[in-house]
Amino acid sequence: MQAEIITIGTEILLGQIVDTNAAKLATMLKGIGVDLYYKTTVGDNHGRIVEVFNNALNRVDVVITSGGLGPTADDITRQAVADVTGRPLRYSSVLEAEIAERFRSFGRNMAENNKQQAYIPEGATPLSNPVGTAPCFLAEDISGRGCIISLPGVPRELEYMMIHTVIPLLIERMGGAKLLKTRILKTAAVGESNVDQAIRDLMDSANPTVGLAAHGGQTDIRIVAKADTEVEIEALIVPMEAKLRERLGVAIFGADDDTLAGVVGRLLVEQEATINVVDMLTQGRVKAWLVAAGHENCITEYLMPDSVQTVAQTMKLDIMVAPNLFAEHVAMAKQHAEPKKQFSLALIGPFEDNSTIIAIATPTGQVYSWPSRLFQDSDYVKRWLTFLGLDWLRRVLLGQLRSPVDWVDNV
Ligand code: ATP
Ligand code: MG
Repeated sequence: MQAEIITIGTEILLGQIVDTNAAKLATMLKGIGVDLYYKTTVGDNHGRIVEVFNNALNRVDVVITSGGLGPTADDITRQAVADVTGRPLRYSSVLEAEIAERFRSFGRNMAENNKQQAYIPEGATPLSNPVGTAPCFLAEDISGRGCIISLPGVPRELEYMMIHTVIPLLIERMGGAKLLKTRILKTAAVGESNVDQAIRDLMDSANPTVGLAAHGGQTDIRIVAKADTEVEIEALIVPMEAKLRERLGVAIFGADDDTLAGVVGRLLVEQEATINVVDMLTQGRVKAWLVAAGHENCITEYLMPDSVQTVAQTMKLDIMVAPNLFAEHVAMAKQHAEPKKQFSLALIGPFEDNSTIIAIATPTGQVYSWPSRLFQDSDYVKRWLTFLGLDWLRRVLLGQLRSPVDWVDNV
């Protein structure tokens, strides 16, 4: 199934509203394996709306529109859908009663112009909208070019309608598989293009579909399968997951609801280990993420030196010349009869050339360190460095370290 998203509103066109609806719709369509081929934005102009609707119906099976369903004069989506699909607007007393009832339930009276919303294209299927007043609908093109599904612009309403009505409806149109299951495999600090390269051929699969979603340092691989029974769904997902794991190996840190900090925390607990952290790069994110994952107890000491330059210079020397900085931590821990194993993680820099070093020391005093030229003073880079630090610690904990230096340079 091929789809196009059309967001309607002059404010979107002018940049006064950020088009979050299009992004939300795109993610949701991807999630059920619909091929999204175009996203279009058009202002509140009847002629141009009709034009983009026509183009869309000529090139895809399903057109999803957002906005312009309200009762005001600039809400002209209904009329445009009617004109393009060849289905004149028809008044529905049932819809008017529904709208009036909705207003009553919000404790408001229905204004006269809301009656306009009881007009939908003839033969269109009304899609009940219990979270707002604008009725939504699905109109089939009279000449068989596909259909237009019109949803409200208000993001909360649009999302509700997608989850509760439109997604099940699209799945049914795609062949009626009753069940849909998503499995998400997660990687961190690897880079979307590296993941893409490793699994590109698998992303051509139709059922299950395999897609990527990158968010600042973490790249998720979504496997979505459609089938009539649980058993069939598993039979689709399991072999695909196995192939992906074979390709990506230790780069996959977890699945579904796992977080990187949660996985690292669990490994530390399993190994009865704790960490010292020297964090000059992530503004405390390493700690915040471990805390959010419920693993505050894994941290024995967390240093965020403020005299950045001096300390950075000293530590750089320490790590490069005499890699025993962390071994001292370990020795100290042992002296205090600390029963737990002690790892150390240092994220230090930035140095004069904007380079940074991430280093990890094991309880036996072995030190791994990676220089990188990654640093910029941005949230994005700080998140990336947090992912790098935690992910390499995970690999050390698993005893499966591979040199990630080339990945860093890819950022
Ligand atoms: P209403 O009945 O509220 O008029 P509507 O279906 O006519 O709903 P619009 O008037 O186009 O929708 O938009 C309502 C509000 O929803 C806008 O003011 C804006 O805040 C938000 N909105 C509209 N379109 C988008 C979009 N594409 N992305 C994010 N927000 C949007
Ligand atoms: Mg409106």
